[in-house]
Amino acid sequence: MRRVTTHYREVATSSGKFGACPVCGKGATRARTFQQTLNPFNKGSDGLVKTEEQIRSELQARKEAWLKRPTYHAACHAKVTPAFDEFFRGYLAAALWSSSDTHPVTQEDVELDKFDWAPGQAESLKADARDFFDTHYALLAEYVELRVNDGRKWEYAGHDFWLNRCEHGCGFWDRDCGEVGDKLADLVGHGTDYPNIDLTLGDDLLVYAQ
Ligand SMILES: [Zn+2]
Repeated sequence: MRRVTTHYREVATSSGKFGACPVCGKGATRARTFQQTLNPFNKGSDGLVKTEEQIRSELQARKEAWLKRPTYHAACHAKVTPAFDEFFRGYLAAALWSSSDTHPVTQEDVELDKFDWAPGQAESLKADARDFFDTHYALLAEYVELRVNDGRKWEYAGHDFWLNRCEHGCGFWDRDCGEVGDKLADLVGHGTDYPNIDLTLGDDLLVYAQ
């Protein structure tokens, strides 16, 4: 049998950036290459095979989004991951206890913290939460020092992120953190990059984020 290997053409663009690392404050340099291949399986949302022009414009958009985000040293980014894990835990907990939906069987309005996440649903909220955490880490680090807490600093900041983005009548702005709280509140909610998320209770009695 003859084995045929097809090499698809790669479309790539590289970029570098320099900025103050949000964790240590020192200058950091990062480089990244964005790539996709032109191949019959690489299709757009319209189901058609992407053209080189389409791929280039997608890569450009990804590059621009990356350039806008702060520049971390890789080690500094890894160092704040435990804080993010705590933040995300608080975020998910607040998501469940602040949401309600109609029970599919009894038709009663029920609070969602009595139910479990459907597989993959909690995980699906992570990338967006990490994006907020990374982009605004310096401000969040100031916030957690100012906010009243019992040691669960990052967990409470995670609560506030959910409550504020979903406009539950409290959040970053009402924790006596002055300008720092107001700045964070302005970054979330209707019309921002971090709008409201609705949770629903499925017919399988599990919680869905989309
Ligand atoms: Zn650093």
